[in-house]
Amino acid sequence: MRRPLIAGNWKMNENIAESVELISQLREMVSDVSEVEIVVAPPYTALGSVADAIKGSNIFLSAQNIFWEESGAFTGEVAPLMLKDIGCQYAIVGHSERRQYFGETNETVNKRLKAALQVSLTPIVCVGEVLEEREAEKTLDVIEQQLKEGLNGLSADEMEKVVIAYEPVWAIGTGKTATPDQAQEIHQFIRKLITQIFSKEVAEGTRILYGGSVKPDNVDQLMSQKDIDGALVGGASLKADSFARIVKFKT
Ligand code: PEP
Repeated sequence: MRRPLIAGNWKMNENIAESVELISQLREMVSDVSEVEIVVAPPYTALGSVADAIKGSNIFLSAQNIFWEESGAFTGEVAPLMLKDIGCQYAIVGHSERRQYFGETNETVNKRLKAALQVSLTPIVCVGEVLEEREAEKTLDVIEQQLKEGLNGLSADEMEKVVIAYEPVWAIGTGKTATPDQAQEIHQFIRKLITQIFSKEVAEGTRILYGGSVKPDNVDQLMSQKDIDGALVGGASLKADSFARIVKFKT
């Protein structure tokens, strides 16, 4: 049985006071939720304050990125143990905005993912096709390459700790959502691929989140799909009431 996971990616939004306000409202609204794992990924500057504000709650903390080196002359980067130190349990890896604007590749995704696992942070590894790739019917090829290269060298034991997020790039921040059927098709494909690379047992246990304009009015249908185990939410995670409604999806 896969435990549903709903994660909010705040991206480069919210200062410290706004972050504390948002998380305090959310904490209250989701305090009765026990069956869903709830994760928020504030910007780096607010991680410490949000960590304090979620103490003793059912909300977990994620970083939006992670660097692979332990320490040293890497100006501007944040090491895996620094994220642990501030209270993170998760790290988003390979978000499409990192791939698009900051040169993230499948190879660097692989390094970040391994670095996260090494310090027992749960990586949420993002994959997804851009619009031209979908239109050229290359979606499955793109996803296969992202996963084969991104997960390269992982043991089955390590894979059991990884969360995958399928996020069609054309649906992120655009208001366009993949239909539940479109999303299910890709999630099923990803699970099959994990079966091939690792085993059926690993694939059956792997949580695959959907991301791309998830909102209170489409989450129920998406979460009703067999292979959709949760959501990675951008815009709608910046309002406590909409994110709380997503966390409380109905199937
Ligand atoms: C995201 O940031 O991963 C995302 C899916 O954003 P949005 O929900 O705004 O499309």
